[in-house]
Amino acid sequence: MSLEEHKRKRDFRKTPEPLGNSARRGNTYVIQRHEASHLHYDLRLEKEGVLKSWAIPKEPPLVSGVRRLAVQTEDHPVAYATFQGTITEGEYGAGTVVIWDSGTYITEKWEEKEIVINIMGEKLKGLYCLIAFRPDKNWLFFRKKR
Ligand code: MN
Repeated sequence: MSLEEHKRKRDFRKTPEPLGNSARRGNTYVIQRHEASHLHYDLRLEKEGVLKSWAIPKEPPLVSGVRRLAVQTEDHPVAYATFQGTITEGEYGAGTVVIWDSGTYITEKWEEKEIVINIMGEKLKGLYCLIAFRPDKNWLFFRKKR
């Protein structure tokens, strides 16, 4: 797993964002509300020592029947999961980050184009799907009907 893109985009002398990775292996789930040039929600799932990440332009769905675009973004260090703060103006992603939801997740399926997870957050609870619908980085994120 590579954090090179994450590092390349940021000047760690200027941004308050954490650089270091955590050795801890876990199943962290977090959604950070990021009030950047466009408000969005960053979904992050800890996997193999990094946070797999997607930017969701609208509020993540609490119930089934709502599908949200989720644009895959670069892997983030695990330490990022607890980050809240204001990214300096002029830096990549400038704006305020707050933790909107957090908890853990269990993987039911993790394939190249389909991820099914059981999310145990404060807001999001239950089975969720991520389905890639373009060869590139566009996914759909929605709560699954049981
Ligand atoms: Mn963001």
